[in-house]
Amino acid sequence: MTGSANEQLPVIVAGGGVAGITAALDLAGSGCCVHLIEKDAVIGGQTARLDKLYPTDHCAFCPVWTQSRLCLAHPLITVHTHSCIDAINRIQEKGEDQGEGQGEDRVEAVIKRAPNYIDARLCIFCGRCEAVCPKNAVSPTLPHALPRTFLVDADVCTKCGRCVEACPTRAVDMARDPEKTKIIAGNIIWATGFSDTDISVLPELGYGSHENIMTSLEFETLTAEAGPNGGKILTPQGKVPDRIAFIQCAGARDRRKFSFCSAVCCMHALKQARWVKRRNPNVDCVIFFTDMRTQGRHYYAYYLDAVQNQSIKLVRGRPGLICPLPAKDLIAVRYEDTLTGQLNTQGFDLVVLNGALDPGSNARTESSFTPETDDQGFVCNTSDQQFSCGFCRAPADVEVSAIEASSAAIRALGTRINGNGPN
Ligand SMILES: Cc1cc2nc3c(=O)[nH]c(=O)nc-3n(C[C@H](O)[C@H](O)[C@H](O)COP(=O)(O)OP(=O)(O)OC[C@H]3O[C@@H](n4cnc5c(N)ncnc54)[C@H](O)[C@@H]3O)c2cc1C
Repeated sequence: MTGSANEQLPVIVAGGGVAGITAALDLAGSGCCVHLIEKDAVIGGQTARLDKLYPTDHCAFCPVWTQSRLCLAHPLITVHTHSCIDAINRIQEKGEDQGEGQGEDRVEAVIKRAPNYIDARLCIFCGRCEAVCPKNAVSPTLPHALPRTFLVDADVCTKCGRCVEACPTRAVDMARDPEKTKIIAGNIIWATGFSDTDISVLPELGYGSHENIMTSLEFETLTAEAGPNGGKILTPQGKVPDRIAFIQCAGARDRRKFSFCSAVCCMHALKQARWVKRRNPNVDCVIFFTDMRTQGRHYYAYYLDAVQNQSIKLVRGRPGLICPLPAKDLIAVRYEDTLTGQLNTQGFDLVVLNGALDPGSNARTESSFTPETDDQGFVCNTSDQQFSCGFCRAPADVEVSAIEASSAAIRALGTRINGNGPN
């Protein structure tokens, strides 16, 4: 092992979800400086927006909150919220006896911080800005995500300046401009995760035709204990539903949208149906599946418990048509049960579409640097200096994302020690 100048350089981690936070903490725990770049106002990613986590059904945000707190407090980690990588230049430094293509690689990254009026680093979350705003343009960030701060809706704000005057720490500044900072780093770890995507392009799924046809992330928010109904199972109209359909592979394993399997949806459909049953055992839950994919420690037992003890029904088949009935109070689901060959139409109060999780749209942030992606949108490992982990690398649940993030951290540390990374 030889020492290297890269040993002194920080690592940039793009994306502050479970994967990015894990990589940052592992790197910092080994004495490495980290810049964690997060495009949102808070870190925690999608997991901070989830309610419960399979396979334990424990609260999703408690562990994320703890990890986020450790990250924000760590002396070797600088968290840049509202920020993206705007440009990357590769720098190769040659030693005296080294020729073309040899030497130590490093990267110069330009970090762009979007102009948000409230600086989270100064905000003490006293709420005075929100209280004095005459237009209700100021609102707090997610209650269980960090850092806790307020956001100003630039479309509603009239820049009257009352919040600036009310702020005791001068955290509010209406004239704030975008900031650009250059960081020289040894490596970049991409951990930009996934986002919901528009599935109205698949007309048979009926998305957009009725508010009771929703994505799994929308359903998770609707039914969350920290959500609008305090964990009660209600439709958007406030009615107790009789029947809920969960449609698997809606936009996944489908060449018209994403041909890959999103890997997490069978398990989170079971989780959501179990949560419904726990809150209201009278609600019928039917999961329409292609195959139930439940690989993982304790996952199969979780599935068996759902179907054997919680009377969650499974139907093998992809519905060919989902549409609101003319009276608009029920959603009709037309399907073939491929195990019996029977064609059927049933009415549901709510339809949850699972599957279309897009890893690429996050990486393609407007007016910022875009890492290399494959034809499905997953971020590629482009060199020994840049690699990916978590859902942006391949479909992965929280456990797998965290394991991959630790591997990415080890790989980054390896390149710092050996120059070219582990074999
Ligand atoms: C409905 C639903 C329920 C789920 N339930 C479970 C469950 O119960 N158990 C489980 O194990 N898994 C579950 N999952 C999967 C889980 O959400 C993912 O495994 C996890 O979020 C992946 O973490 P990540 O850090 O890779 O990505 P993300 O959580 O997506 O985090 C990515 C972060 O990067 C940021 N970012 C994106 N682009 C940029 C950019 N260009 N620059 C800077 N920052 C950027 C984002 O704002 C975000 O903060 C569920 C998924 C869904 C859809």
